Amino acid sequence: MLIILLGPPGAGKGTQAERIIKERQLAHIATGDILRSAVKTGTTLGRKAKHFMDQGKLVPDELVVELVKERLMDPDCVNGALLDGFPRTVNQASFLEQVLPNAGFGIDRVLSVEVDEKSLIERLTGRRVCSDCGASYHLKFKAPQVRNVCDRCGGDLFQRDDDALGTVKERLQVYKKQTEPLMDYYQEKKLIDRIDGNLDVEQVYEQIKKILDQI
Ligand code: ADP
Ligand code: ADP
Ligand code: ZN
Repeated sequence: MLIILLGPPGAGKGTQAERIIKERQLAHIATGDILRSAVKTGTTLGRKAKHFMDQGKLVPDELVVELVKERLMDPDCVNGALLDGFPRTVNQASFLEQVLPNAGFGIDRVLSVEVDEKSLIERLTGRRVCSDCGASYHLKFKAPQVRNVCDRCGGDLFQRDDDALGTVKERLQVYKKQTEPLMDYYQEKKLIDRIDGNLDVEQVYEQIKKILDQI
């Protein structure tokens, strides 16, 4: 089984991904998380990706597709995977179609999580992330029990550099220009389900669950 979560930065992809992978025992492939961890450990990939990420630009396709190709071969992908934040360009999408047969599955659904721009800015600038386990919080919408401390593991929470207002605006522009064309691309293949992401976390998940139950 392969599900793709498509949507702008801050739409709630990571938040919904946690629930989806539990429900269907899927491997969670979040290219943003993989890239951030490569930057943190200073690998060759991380060194190449860092300045694109700092500026809110997309990392070049050839770097990202290579990492996805390898990740799909990991043993935890046998039941299938949830792609979160990939593909982000039409070029990445056509690459995915080429490599999926090797991994043994095809795309089941593309869930397009749609949120208005004002909320996206509020969600991104208020987001806080755990430095140890990566869990994501929000100052207003999902505050931790103790300020700046992760409920799950006790780690410190921090604000991602690219969640500063200036970079957020750039990322939203990049999304419109480079990623939004994927909506038509998958619409033509009749794979898209539109999800109203403006609602609260549980209501968004309910819409997704209905779709998962049909697969
Ligand atoms: P968000 O979920 O808030 O949109 P991500 O964590 O998915 O952010 O991505 C953070 C950054 O990592 C992006 O701004 C981009 O630089 C890089 N990135 C993540 N996924 C991709 C991808 N599929 N293609 C190119 N760059 C990517
Ligand atoms: P993405 O992975 O698409 O960038 P996240 O899942 O990290 O998005 O969510 C972005 C921010 O918005 C986080 O701070 C998260 O806690 C918050 N958030 C996610 N879903 C909702 C929602 N339905 N309503 C309000 N806030 C949300
Ligand atoms: Zn944590």
